[in-house]
Amino acid sequence: KELPADPIIQNTRRQVEKACFSYVTPRVPSAPSLAHVSKEMAKTLGLSEDDLASQRFLHMVTGATVLEDTTPYAMCYGGHQFGHWAGQLGDGRAINLTEVTHQNKRWALQLKGAGATPYSRTADGLAVLRSSVREHLCSEAMYHLGVPTTRSLSLSLSGDKVLRDMLYDGNADYEKGAIVCRVAPSFIRFGNFEIFASRQDTETLKTLVDYTIRHFYPQYEGGTKENYVGFFNEVVQNTLEMIVHWQRVGFVHGVMNTDNMSILGLTIDYGPYGWLEGYDPGWTPNTTDRQNKRYRFGNQPQIGLWNLLQLANALFPLIEDAAPLEAILQTYHTEYPKKYIAMMREKLGLQLALEADIQLITDLEKNLQASETDMTIFFRNLAQISKEESTDVKNSFFAFGEAEVHTERSRSAKAETESHTKHIEVPTKSLKAAFYKPEEIAGTIRSDWETWFTAYQKRLSQERLSDEERTVQMNRVNPKYVLRNYISQLVIDEANKDNYELLEEIHNLLKHPYDEQPAYEHWFAKRPEWARNKVGCSM
Ligand code: AMP
Ligand code: MG
Ligand code: MG
Repeated sequence: KELPADPIIQNTRRQVEKACFSYVTPRVPSAPSLAHVSKEMAKTLGLSEDDLASQRFLHMVTGATVLEDTTPYAMCYGGHQFGHWAGQLGDGRAINLTEVTHQNKRWALQLKGAGATPYSRTADGLAVLRSSVREHLCSEAMYHLGVPTTRSLSLSLSGDKVLRDMLYDGNADYEKGAIVCRVAPSFIRFGNFEIFASRQDTETLKTLVDYTIRHFYPQYEGGTKENYVGFFNEVVQNTLEMIVHWQRVGFVHGVMNTDNMSILGLTIDYGPYGWLEGYDPGWTPNTTDRQNKRYRFGNQPQIGLWNLLQLANALFPLIEDAAPLEAILQTYHTEYPKKYIAMMREKLGLQLALEADIQLITDLEKNLQASETDMTIFFRNLAQISKEESTDVKNSFFAFGEAEVHTERSRSAKAETESHTKHIEVPTKSLKAAFYKPEEIAGTIRSDWETWFTAYQKRLSQERLSDEERTVQMNRVNPKYVLRNYISQLVIDEANKDNYELLEEIHNLLKHPYDEQPAYEHWFAKRPEWARNKVGCSM
C-alpha cells in the first residue's frame, strides 16, 4: 500500500536505495504473438479458454498494455555469484505485473524479457526464444514431476530481434525476442534480503522480512526474534526439500547464486540448467563454470547450505544472536544425508530402513559412474527386476537384458485387479538399455555390477512388497520422461522455424512424467550421440 521510496516511472539504470522495488513499464513489443500457453496453469489462475484467446490476454503477457489499476514493478536484490558478493543485481529483465487470487491461492504474474529496468545494468532486459522455450518447458515439467518450482503461463514472441552473440566475422547474430509470463506465489529471493543487510539498511530489511512472513509464513507473524528464527528455519527446510527433489530426478540447476534462490524454496531461474543423462555428480550444464564446477550435480546440497548461510547473515541484524541460526544450519547438515538416503531408498523400492542400505546406495552410485549410465532409464527399468531371480546372477543382470524377462513376467490377474493404480505397461527395454557403452561393461565394472545386483536382490527379498507392488511404488518416484537436454534443443530448432508442434507434444508428454505413454516411447531413450556435451544456453 505504501509507495516505494523510489517512485520514478522511468527505467534509468541505477543503484536503488531504501526501496524493495521500482515501478517500471514493460516495453511495447513490435508484433506480439503467442507461441504457447500452459492450459493447466491458466486454469489454476481462473482463466477461461475465451480469456486465453482474447487480445487482452495477448497484450498482458507480452507487456503491450498494462492492465488497468495495476502498477508493474521490478524488484531490487543483490546476490552472491559464484561465491562472491556481487552487489545490486535486481530484476534486470523481469517485471512483476500484478497478483491474482483464485481459489484462495495468490499468484504473482511476472514477465521475463519485457524490457529494461533500473536493474538491467549493461544488459538489454530482453530474452531470446531459445532460453524462453527452455524456461517455459522446464518449469512446467518440474511442476508435474512434483518438484517445487515457479511456473510458466505462456511463451510469446515480441516480434523484435534481439542481439546475443557477435559472430567471428563481425556480423551480428540476431535472434527472435521472446517473453515468458512466469507465475509463482512470490519471486522473492535470498538476494532481496542480502541487499539491505549489505547496505546496513535494517529498516527496509525488516519491512521486507515482515512482508514475507505476513504473506508466506504467517505462522511466524509477531516481529519477535523467535519469529524470525522460526521463519529462517522454515526456509531452510523448504530449500532442503527442493534440493532432495533435484537429486531425485537428476536436475542440475547450474547457477545456484543466492539471487537465484527463492525464499519459498521454489526452483527459480531456468538459465543454463540441465538434466543428468549419464549419472555423474561432477557434471554441470554451465559452460562458464567448467573450471571449478561449483554448481555441479553432486555439489548442489552443499551449495544450498552455503547459500542459506548467506541468508542467515542477511537476517542476523533482526536476530542479533548467531547461536539459533547456527543450530538451524547444523540441522541441514545432519538432515540432508538422512533425507537423501530416504529418497534413494524410495528410488530403489525399499520400504524398510536398514543400516546396510547406505552401503548399497554408495556402491550403486559408484557403479553408475564407472560405466556411463543413463540415470532416468536405469531407475525406471530397475523397477522391473524380480526378487525371485536372486539366486542367479546371470539372470539378474545381463540375462535381464535379453527380452525374456519382459515377456515372461506376466502380471498376475490378482495384481491386475487389486492394483489401485493405472494399468502398468511392462517396458520393452532392459537395464542394459541404460548403458551408453554396453561394451564398457566388462572386467571389474561388470563384476561390480553383478555384485551389486546380487546384493540388491538379496535386499529386495527382505521386503514385503510383491514385485508388482514395488514396480508401482518405484514408478511414482522414478520418472520415465524428463526434459532431456537434446529434446529441448529439438524443440528450439522447430520453434526457430515457427513450428510449435513439437513444443506442444513435449509439453503434453511431460505433464505425465511417471506414466507409461506408449505413443511417446521414443522419448524414453538415451541421448543420441550428436547431442553429447550439447546443453542449451543461459541468456
Ligand atoms: P542470472 O545469471 O540469470 O541469475 O542473472 C543475473 C542478473 O543479471 C540478474 O539481475 C538478471 O536480472 C540480470 N540479467 C540477466 N540477463 C539480463 C538481460 N538480458 N538484461 C538485463 N538483465 C539481465
Ligand atoms: Mg537470476
Ligand atoms: Mg537467468
